[in-house]
Amino acid sequence: MVTNRYKYAIEMYRDDGTNLGQVPVEMDPQPALEWTWLTGLRRNKLELSDGTGSSAVLPVWHREVGEPYIEGFRVTILSDEDDGITEDFSTLYFKREADQARLNLIASKRLRKDETVRYVTLAFLNDAHAMPAARPQFKTREAPPDIRIVESDFGSFVNRSQLEGEVTTEDIPIVIPRRILDETRELALASRDKETGGVLIGHLHRDRTVPEVFVEVTAQIKAAHAVADAARLTFTPDTWSAVQAAVDLRGEGETWVAWWHSHVPVGVSCKDCPEEKRAVCPLVNGFFSQDDRQLHRTVFFKAFASALTLSLKDEGDGSEITHKLYGWRHGVIEPRGFYVLNNGLSTSGGERHAERQP
Ligand SMILES: [Zn+2]
Repeated sequence: MVTNRYKYAIEMYRDDGTNLGQVPVEMDPQPALEWTWLTGLRRNKLELSDGTGSSAVLPVWHREVGEPYIEGFRVTILSDEDDGITEDFSTLYFKREADQARLNLIASKRLRKDETVRYVTLAFLNDAHAMPAARPQFKTREAPPDIRIVESDFGSFVNRSQLEGEVTTEDIPIVIPRRILDETRELALASRDKETGGVLIGHLHRDRTVPEVFVEVTAQIKAAHAVADAARLTFTPDTWSAVQAAVDLRGEGETWVAWWHSHVPVGVSCKDCPEEKRAVCPLVNGFFSQDDRQLHRTVFFKAFASALTLSLKDEGDGSEITHKLYGWRHGVIEPRGFYVLNNGLSTSGGERHAERQP
C-alpha cells in the first residue's frame, strides 16, 4: 500500500508576475515509486522481496516560502532488513502537466502563444478531516513483483560492450546485443512504409560488489496482431498474450525489459532536405511521441524498462537507420545511452544462459 495523502496543483505566472491561477494536477506516483525501488535495489538498500509495498510519498516544502509551495516530493520505501531508501524528486516531475496547463491557457485565449510562463507547484492534504501525519504512515505491503534477478559480474558485460550515446551513473545500465539491434533494423526495413515493433525480453542482473543492477536484453519478439500504418503502431491485447506465450515457450525465465518500434518518415523525403536540417530533424534523429509515452507508462512502467526507437531515413538502402533508447530517469522518460554487446558473446561471467535460435 502506498501512502500518498496529498493532492498537487500548479500555479502559473506571466513573466511580468501576473498570476494566471491554479490548476490541479493528476499526481501519478507510480514512476517515482518504481524509480525509488530500483535505486534501493541498485544500492543494496532493498531486496526484490521488498517491492514498492511499504512506501510513502510526502511533499518537500519550499525552503523560502514554505507550505503549500513545494520544492518537490520525497518517496520512502521501507525494507524488511535495512533502513530502506529515500529519493527526492524535483518539480520537474510535473513538467508535462505544466506544459499542458500552458497549452490550455493559450487555447482559452488567456495567454499568447509567444508568451513564456513560470510555474510553481503546491501540495494540499487530500483528506480534509485528517490530521497531518508527523511521520510517514506505512500500511501493509502488496505482493512483491514477479521478477527474477541473476547474480552476475557487471565488469564481464562492460568489457565486451561498446557504449552508444551517453550513459550517466543515474541510469541503470542496459546491455543490448548487436545482433538484436541488427534484427530490429532488418524488420524495420522490411516494412518500410509502416511502423513495426516488438518486445525486448531479458534478464535483470545484480552485482552486489559494485553495487549495481543492470539489464541484459536476450531476445527480440516481433509484435504479432499489431495494427500498423505509417504514423503509428498499435499493440493489441493479442500482441501481449503472444509475447508472453513466446517467453513461456523459451523457458528461460525472461522478463519484458523493453519494447521497440520504428518511425517511418511520413510523406517526408530526406533527399530534398539540406544536410544541416537533417542533423536536427526529429524524424531522422528519433523522438518519443505522446502515444509512445502513454504505452510506456501503461505497460513498461518498471524503472528498468526502456524503449528503443528506430528512425528510417527515406532513401533506400537502409544503412541510414538510427537507434535511440529512452528510459525512466527520476520518474520521467528521457533519451539515454546503452551498452552494445559484441556479437557471439552473450553469456555472462557468473551465469550461463543457454543460447537458443528463435
Ligand atoms: Zn513512436
